[in-house]
Amino acid sequence: MKRTTPVKKNEMITLEIEDLTHEGSGVGKVDGYPLFVPKTLPGEKATVKVVKVNKNFGYGKLIDVLEPSPERREPTHQCGGCQLQHMSYELELEMKHNQVKNVMKKIAHLDHVPVHEPIGMEHPWRYRNKVQMPVGERDGRLITGFYQPRSHRIIEMTDTCLVQDELIDGIVETVRDEAERLGIKAYDEKAHQGVLRHIVVKIGKAMKEAMVIIVTRTKKLPHADQIIAKIRETHPHVTSIMHNINPERTNVILGKTTKRLWGEDYIYDKIGDLTFAISARSFFQVNPIQTKVLYDKALEYADIGEDDIVIDAYCGIGTISLFLAQRAKKVYGVEIVPEAVNDAKKNAVLNGMTNAEFVVGAAEDVMEQWKNDGLQPDVIVVDPPRKGCDETLLQAMITMQPKRIVYVSCNPATLARDLRILEDGGFATKEVQPVDMFPRTYHVECVALMSRDEK
Ligand code: SAH
Repeated sequence: MKRTTPVKKNEMITLEIEDLTHEGSGVGKVDGYPLFVPKTLPGEKATVKVVKVNKNFGYGKLIDVLEPSPERREPTHQCGGCQLQHMSYELELEMKHNQVKNVMKKIAHLDHVPVHEPIGMEHPWRYRNKVQMPVGERDGRLITGFYQPRSHRIIEMTDTCLVQDELIDGIVETVRDEAERLGIKAYDEKAHQGVLRHIVVKIGKAMKEAMVIIVTRTKKLPHADQIIAKIRETHPHVTSIMHNINPERTNVILGKTTKRLWGEDYIYDKIGDLTFAISARSFFQVNPIQTKVLYDKALEYADIGEDDIVIDAYCGIGTISLFLAQRAKKVYGVEIVPEAVNDAKKNAVLNGMTNAEFVVGAAEDVMEQWKNDGLQPDVIVVDPPRKGCDETLLQAMITMQPKRIVYVSCNPATLARDLRILEDGGFATKEVQPVDMFPRTYHVECVALMSRDEK
């Protein structure tokens, strides 16, 4: 027999919100049955429409706030990108702090380890140095925007995005409108037809320069000359226009082939005293102001001496590696994207560093190889993507017995999982520092320090 729930789909109810999930959704209960209601805050009373009823919990849609929380803020702008504009930045940081503390308890079982308050931004707006927008068609027009959460429906972005740097403003629209004028079709995911998939813009904040990457399914970008001319005429700070070809049926934005349409192959940016060349397909942290804060913390934790041998795994274009190389005897970096490793080598030269060596490969394979070769690092820094470190890599680190491990992570859940494995392998977590790299979204970055347990 189907168990009855205290609410029915489409029912209108008055709900008191008691809690907040780490994705920023409010939670209220009807006779113990939890309802998740996005855009509501703890302490609020709201009129809610029940939109989905599962066995043990349901979802509601906010219709009207009857008693607002003092932490409520009027969102200045709504699209698919940010989730937390309806709350104060203070509450956002508190929520992120709770999330990290929570996983440290529940996943890592490290209740005693200090989790510091997140380091936030003074002005948590206009920080992003990169935008990647899917292109679609609606009523015969080309549209750009963000995917609606958990779907591939594009929410059209009609005005500026307040978390992206001003230098990006208008560039996507110029490319989109020119493509529309020239009759270029948007890529159709379902039919795997059409041309224009994404428009990506990256900026070098310190140098005030921009790179445009036009991603197509087809080998050819029709009317490329006209598009180039239009971009150059409208946005003189664009120094690089690239064409990336992605013929696959995939959610991955960039394909393997990138061609230069005009200008330079790189844009440049500075973090602290170091300069970095960044090519189209290489990863670079999206919030340059907080990147400095993050790297300073990672360096402090790494506590490098001049005789130290250091490994930087998942090194991207060698940013952390070169900061470490300023102090260490030798730094080894490993990264899977070949273009990023080329950038890393170029960046070592650009900054006059001769003690950093970079290898292309999966970190888990290369680390295993280094271990078998007898490499003995004093410090290992890892900065993996959201899925965390591969188990092979964690085991190799345990065998290598560095004095310290500095773990930089953009996903608290996989961080906690991996810290547990390293703890079981004889390392002790000393402290965790969250850094808010992504204000107004529910993402949070952390740096964790571990040292070899000398029990
Ligand atoms: N530390 C760098 C990059 C961090 S992002 C910085 O701060 O800029 C994570 C990086 O890991 C990306 O550059 C990605 O290309 C790379 N990567 C993803 N999977 C990998 C793997 N299995 N082995 C090595 N690198 C990987």
